[in-house]
Amino acid sequence: MNFGFPGSLFLLALAAAPLASAQAQEKVLNLYSARHYQTDEALYSGFTRQTGITVKRIEGKEDELLERIRNEGANSPADVLLTVDAARLAAAHEMGLLAPLQSRVLETRIPAHLRTADWYAFSLRARVIIYAKEMVNPDELRTYDDLANPRLKGKVCSRSGSHPYNLSLLASIIAHRGEAKAEAWARGVVANFARAPKGGDTDQIRAVAAGECAVAVSNTYYLARLMRSDKPEDRKTMEKVGVIWPDQQGSGTHVNVSGGGVLKTAPHREAAVKFLEYLSSDEAQRYFADGNNEWPVVPGVKLANPALEELGKFKADTLPVGSLATYRAKAQMIFDRAGYR
Ligand code: FE
Repeated sequence: MNFGFPGSLFLLALAAAPLASAQAQEKVLNLYSARHYQTDEALYSGFTRQTGITVKRIEGKEDELLERIRNEGANSPADVLLTVDAARLAAAHEMGLLAPLQSRVLETRIPAHLRTADWYAFSLRARVIIYAKEMVNPDELRTYDDLANPRLKGKVCSRSGSHPYNLSLLASIIAHRGEAKAEAWARGVVANFARAPKGGDTDQIRAVAAGECAVAVSNTYYLARLMRSDKPEDRKTMEKVGVIWPDQQGSGTHVNVSGGGVLKTAPHREAAVKFLEYLSSDEAQRYFADGNNEWPVVPGVKLANPALEELGKFKADTLPVGSLATYRAKAQMIFDRAGYR
């Protein structure tokens, strides 16, 4: 995280903004972002260059930001919320924080399954299977189902079942195949654990490379980050790890999103809509891809990211992003029952 100065002071300063003149207001946008990627700077400066609107940014942890906006209530200086994971965006919707928008630009640029009435996906991250090249025959790993195959007993590493990335993956399985099958799958994966769930996706990649486990799942941008790393040990890690696009014969690989919406109480609503529209522009879509190794949501955007190119083309699940949120609570219950902690 990267607070320029103490968060509370900044908020105080922002809270005074409604007192400023109307003209001054138009030139500022208050962005609450849970994306803490260095490369996002380029996004904000690109927007400022095009519109003359300065982006004032508050960064925070996903759930904290939502709480903060809710606590600030009608006085919240926040114009736009940007965060990662469909279920968190849906939580903002359920808390009644977001304003429904009508934007021709967003509707034409962003495919229908990647937007809702009040929030929009701007980038995609796929959840892939990774394996230790020396330990596993990749032909045995075609689907998420294969992670539950008893053949992999004692070989699977995972981050916590409570983490949104895994909850969204399980939510997609519930959406496609129903609760009973999803639970059988979760139990099967737990039975195959090499160790109790711990760490983040990068820790699972390193554990696979070290032979501590043979198989795990990871979001693609963590893989791309290691592939593009300056550190030789990172690239060595990736030499030992193979990547599988699951369910290419079926519903496609599960993708999650990062996205955002305009807040109901936004003091600079017009600038906020402009900002979201900017995020769907070719230029901004390329920043997501080339800077943070995510896939654009807008079809046909030309990329210059060797790691994404190396990962190759794949069929992504086109489940509407809203359904990931619908099944999230069920997913948590199933993981709990299955002992996927
Ligand atoms: Fe992440």
